[in-house]
Amino acid sequence: MGEARGRVIQAWSRQGTQPPPRIVGGEGCRFFDAAGRSYLDFSSQLVNANLGHSRTEIQEAVQKQVATMATLGRPWDVEIVDELADRLAEITPGDLNSFFFACSGTEANEAAIRLARAYTGRDKVIARYRSYHGSSAGALTLTGEPRRWVGEPGVPGVVRMLDPYTYRCPAGHPTPCPVCSGAPHLRELLQYEGAENVAAVIVEPITGINGVIVPPDGYLRAIRDVCTEHGIMLICDEVMTGFGRTGSWFACDRWGVVPDIITCAKGLTAGYLPLAAVAVSDRLSGWLQDSVFPYGLTYSAHPVACAAAVAALQVYQKERLVERADRLGAVIEAALRELAERHPSIGDIRGSGCFWGIELVTDRATKQPLVPFNPGSAAAEPMTKLTAAAFQKGLYLLTHWNMIVVSPPLIIDEAEIREGMALLDETLCVADEYV
Ligand code: PLP
Repeated sequence: MGEARGRVIQAWSRQGTQPPPRIVGGEGCRFFDAAGRSYLDFSSQLVNANLGHSRTEIQEAVQKQVATMATLGRPWDVEIVDELADRLAEITPGDLNSFFFACSGTEANEAAIRLARAYTGRDKVIARYRSYHGSSAGALTLTGEPRRWVGEPGVPGVVRMLDPYTYRCPAGHPTPCPVCSGAPHLRELLQYEGAENVAAVIVEPITGINGVIVPPDGYLRAIRDVCTEHGIMLICDEVMTGFGRTGSWFACDRWGVVPDIITCAKGLTAGYLPLAAVAVSDRLSGWLQDSVFPYGLTYSAHPVACAAAVAALQVYQKERLVERADRLGAVIEAALRELAERHPSIGDIRGSGCFWGIELVTDRATKQPLVPFNPGSAAAEPMTKLTAAAFQKGLYLLTHWNMIVVSPPLIIDEAEIREGMALLDETLCVADEYV
């Protein structure tokens, strides 16, 4: 190599404040840096490494597909793509039996919105404030949190709805309030927007990075019913929550709700290769038979990524990881509640399966967040310090605003959970100093 040095730009904010260690490998729930230090992955990287690191089953499937035929664009009939569609149809709820494939959750959401608009002939899309739907112009406009600001004004037609965030209820919980119960708030919005103008409502059934918000029982069903009443497509963004993460194949299964469209990615290949899917109902798929709907990317349904997904789905099923995630949920919750008794900085704990959020505050009575809901603020320092402290102790934690996301690989065992909780216990002392 010559003298030139390339610089990789990855993060969306505060580039280069802390040079990260060079990671050279991983195995199971751990990964290793070049200095030989080991880290327990308590967040499955970006909540995608559901099966842990270096699974031989996926390595072998990928190698086999590369050796057979690495790249094939439709219209060719590709066996591994059809196999993936069959396997997905087995696990997706209701009649969501047809699939588009893309390379990222962002693209899947773009496709879902385009499809909902084309099918309904309507323009508006309702999305929630505490949502993240991706990083392209459209998906970032759907996103409600401040990361959207940099892309504004974004694409037209997006209307925002408040979240069923009972801990900080926008309408003053106790239950039922118009926002946290779903239907009254949505109905009011539709009155002002015109239901006949609304193509879709998009929600994360359990909100991911913006708070791990589990809505009250009945919320998603209520949203579903209002959508059905008005011919509005309900899109569940399961990019983070899909594939067993919350203790069921998809988070919407928890309430027996079948949306018109599910978007998913991350856990689909357990992070081994980039792949996303848009699962659509038989009604939409029937309409597509007779309609022109231009959609496709050079790497849509890439056979090697599909091979990784098929191998991943086999592992989920063989090792009964969805049931395991559900069972481990009780273990994680008990450990977190025990931490909450001793750490005054813990304001709230919520989650399901292997997907938990710890919301940090400086004062439990006022619920003052440890850091504000706003990027680029120097006030983010307590969380930066906390994340770095965890890493120093050998614990990888995904943090965002005043939240810690505890989302270990679904293969984690109870001894590893105890080990991670002990390190988390030490780490939380950093937050307690601000109380
Ligand atoms: N939707 C949700 C709920 C997500 O959590 C993410 C990413 O974290 C996305 C969409 C975007 O997915 P990707 O980063 O694969 O484009």
